[in-house]
Amino acid sequence: GVRIRNLHKTYGGREVLRGIDLDLPAGSVTAIIGPSGSGKSTLLRCINHLERPDAGYVEVGGEVIGYRVDGDRLRERSPREIARQRARIGMVFQQFNLFGHRTAAQNIMEGQLAAGIPSTTARATATRLLARVGLEGRDGAYPAHLSGGQQQRVAIARALATDPALILFDEPTSALDPELVGEVLAVIKELATTGITMAIVTHEIGFAREVADQLVFIDEGRVAAIGAPDEVLDHSANDRARAFVAAVL
Ligand code: ATP
Ligand code: MG
Repeated sequence: GVRIRNLHKTYGGREVLRGIDLDLPAGSVTAIIGPSGSGKSTLLRCINHLERPDAGYVEVGGEVIGYRVDGDRLRERSPREIARQRARIGMVFQQFNLFGHRTAAQNIMEGQLAAGIPSTTARATATRLLARVGLEGRDGAYPAHLSGGQQQRVAIARALATDPALILFDEPTSALDPELVGEVLAVIKELATTGITMAIVTHEIGFAREVADQLVFIDEGRVAAIGAPDEVLDHSANDRARAFVAAVL
């Protein structure tokens, strides 16, 4: 699982994360909602150390990400160690972020090759994962020849390729045409049954209600409400959480 404690992040004097405490139990699905600019993407980026927190820490599977615990101090890890830690954390972005000049299979192989996995193994994994996300036989397809929903499914396969313990989704369906949202949510929903720990920033409230074990409402860089989805969505004690949910529903 994941333990986040007292996480702070400031950009140019603006405090974007103001002390986040959050647990993602092993094998659970956490949906994260909140207003634009509240710090949701920053939180995900701190979890996999794309951003360095200014204070606090993130622990995944008992290891602090980016730092080595030395007595009561945290010492920065080497880029190589951070890369090893990051390989255990998959990330899926709103804009897919596939390499346009590489095929679906090559996109999925990339991280594996960087992690030292032999190319024959990496290729077999790519083929297997493409089938798993409903893209059997599309190994040689370039992103430009795939729909947005297909590209996002390639991105999910890529995130799974290094066998992560944790996968982070940042609004994975927000850039898709409405008719393509369902196929991507179906893949995520299937993944949720496999015991992988997941966090997903989403505006798909119905999906969050159905699939998430816990729902977190982030507001102005803090956890403003947390609990079972129905509890947070229907009975939140937090005024801003209620107003936000009323506005997105
Ligand atoms: P949205 O729902 O629009 O995606 P969000 O909750 O994901 O919003 P963040 O992207 O985490 O919000 O941004 C929180 C705040 O931090 C915003 O005011 C944003 O402008 C600022 N911010 C994010 N990244 C950076 C950066 N690299 N440099 C400076 N400011 C940043
Ligand atoms: Mg965001």
